[in-house]
Amino acid sequence: MAIRVNPGYIEVLDKFGAEDVQMCYQCGDCSTVCAHADDIFKFPRKSMRQLQMGLEEKLETSLEPWLCYYCGQCSEQCPREADPGETMMSLRRWLISRYDITGIANQFFNSRTREILTVLLIAVLTGIYLTFYGISGGSIHVYDGEGAFLPSSFIHTFDLTVGGIMFLFLWLGALRMWYFSMVKGMSIPVPWWLYFKKLYEIPFQFITQKRYAECENNGNSKLYMPWLVHFGLASGYSIMIILIMVFVEPLQAGPEIVWPLHIFGYLATIGLLIGCIYFVRQRIVKTKHVQYKKTHSTDWMFVILLIIITVSGIVQHILHRTGYLEAANITYVIHLMAVVPWLLRMPFSKWSHLIYRPMAMYFAEIQREAVVRQQKLVDPLSITIK
Ligand code: SF4
Ligand code: SF4
Repeated sequence: MAIRVNPGYIEVLDKFGAEDVQMCYQCGDCSTVCAHADDIFKFPRKSMRQLQMGLEEKLETSLEPWLCYYCGQCSEQCPREADPGETMMSLRRWLISRYDITGIANQFFNSRTREILTVLLIAVLTGIYLTFYGISGGSIHVYDGEGAFLPSSFIHTFDLTVGGIMFLFLWLGALRMWYFSMVKGMSIPVPWWLYFKKLYEIPFQFITQKRYAECENNGNSKLYMPWLVHFGLASGYSIMIILIMVFVEPLQAGPEIVWPLHIFGYLATIGLLIGCIYFVRQRIVKTKHVQYKKTHSTDWMFVILLIIITVSGIVQHILHRTGYLEAANITYVIHLMAVVPWLLRMPFSKWSHLIYRPMAMYFAEIQREAVVRQQKLVDPLSITIK
């Protein structure tokens, strides 16, 4: 089958953040230092080459950008300052836009204005809807129970609807990833039972982010700070999503504190706050970690919304528990005005890696075993992942 070449592909990737690809002269140093590259997945050099050659279809089927954790080791070693780490990050952004069937991700990554306007529009519509709902059926002076401004049963249904839309788009994207990488991108048969054998990879990689901890660029520290912060942030917002989707009704009751539930909310809030502060500080101070030197505008939106959500959540919680119910209701509306665009935007942003990365690890392990099995049957040199 003929391979289609896109001569303008480098310019396309430039908009996603890859600015220095042409500097690469294929020495291979980057792949040598990368803790995760091997004989089967030869990134980032191979991805740099495919990009230079305009092999858009090959990169579309590649899982390699997801196997990179952006430790920055390769960029530090590159003699040409071609920044392969940032290129892998840009490829992940581009792949997110390829998995997305709506075209929204592409619009967001290519226009900061469109993204800001969309987020503002969703926030304002959410505020108007919740305010009218509250005024029509309840009282601003009542926080929970009969006559509440925003009854917990209504909020529960509202959260499940918004969360359902978010997960629908995320899983549609994951389905496209499977089609690109496991159907279009495989030249050898994949036994069906490998999907079951490797299934544990999804929760295992999601929870531990083990490969990130294995990055060698750890500054001689056993506690690799970017991994620790990433772990805190991911755990924080995973716990928050579970609390919002499942336990919002007992959490909203009060003013008594339900310690077996609230303790998780408090821990998640601490994780989110520390993660946000670390993220902002690293990008403003531009520390030694190369992965913080460049930040795409879309990376900021997630953190700004998360800061608003976290701070408004803390304020609302304090106001409710101390009896300032009118102020608590108003703060609750502001809080949800940030929560809704934050959730709805996730499938179209870098942060969809919450789902895409563990899925990619899972598919990559299946590919690896399929290749090894095939190598035992035929000439090893004839086997590749397309
Ligand atoms: S990105 Fe840099 S280190 Fe990697 S192959 Fe190209 S020139 Fe060499
Ligand atoms: S940033 Fe780190 S994990 Fe990613 S390709 Fe470079 S060395 Fe490998």
